[in-house]
Amino acid sequence: MNIAILSGKGGTGKTTVSTNLALALKFNYIDCDVEEPNGFLFLKPEIHIIEKVMVGYPIIDDDKCIACGACIEACQFNALAKVNDDILLFQKLCHSCGACRIACGYDAITYHKREIGKLESGKTSGIECIRGILNIGEPIAVPVIRQLLQNLPDGGNIIDCQPGTSCNVVNSLRYADSAILVTEPTKFGLHDLRLAVELVRMFEIPFGVIINKDDGRENEVKEYCDKENICILGVIPYRRDIAREYSKGDILYHNPEHKSIFDELASKAKEGLKWS
Ligand code: SF4
Ligand code: SF4
Repeated sequence: MNIAILSGKGGTGKTTVSTNLALALKFNYIDCDVEEPNGFLFLKPEIHIIEKVMVGYPIIDDDKCIACGACIEACQFNALAKVNDDILLFQKLCHSCGACRIACGYDAITYHKREIGKLESGKTSGIECIRGILNIGEPIAVPVIRQLLQNLPDGGNIIDCQPGTSCNVVNSLRYADSAILVTEPTKFGLHDLRLAVELVRMFEIPFGVIINKDDGRENEVKEYCDKENICILGVIPYRRDIAREYSKGDILYHNPEHKSIFDELASKAKEGLKWS
């Protein structure tokens, strides 16, 4: 069972839900927010395995290249350009698709590899934690996300996705059996929740909503979920003690006063996401 945790926007409490729910469910924690992975700051696993993420890029052999431009035509990412009779590669735009090599009728293109990120894993409190890290300055995160998710450990996995609804989130959702959308009861929260709902519905997987910073009153998010027949799995109360603990980098689940919030969310998730 792989549960993707999404939020339409940053700052809703997605990492809080992901890390604490992983502990409550005894699921592995997978941090797919590879541009800014911060779940390990809370879980603090002892890292024992590190793996590089490599991508291919083309190298053009000047002795064989006749500057016909077929590779440029084939590249849908505008990563190649012709300057005088030289073919230039803009390495950071290259998606490693291989189309240029196929298009070249002169066998002038070979592939080399370069590192764009890494995966780290370790254990804490009896769960496996794995995260992807995209190197600073690298614009394309999808290869890191794919390598992270292609070899998920056995058992249940909580997939902590990037905020928003970008292609990084789409690529993370491809590996999910169900999803939890974390939001906050504000107009911005509702706006971005709608986008996240639209996205998850395209995947036709069961999903539910957790409302963070809930003050117990009726709000637009609850009205929207009722109207759209979306299951609210639970809420995290808007309380100073919770905010203080979070700001210290502590795990709420380890505090007996807050543990029950996530035990309840875990049991509601089992029920609401209908897994056997
Ligand atoms: S397709 Fe091959 S020969 Fe033509 S410009 Fe590209 S590398 Fe050179
Ligand atoms: S591998 Fe794909 S993206 Fe990269 S330069 Fe070639 S055609 Fe363009």
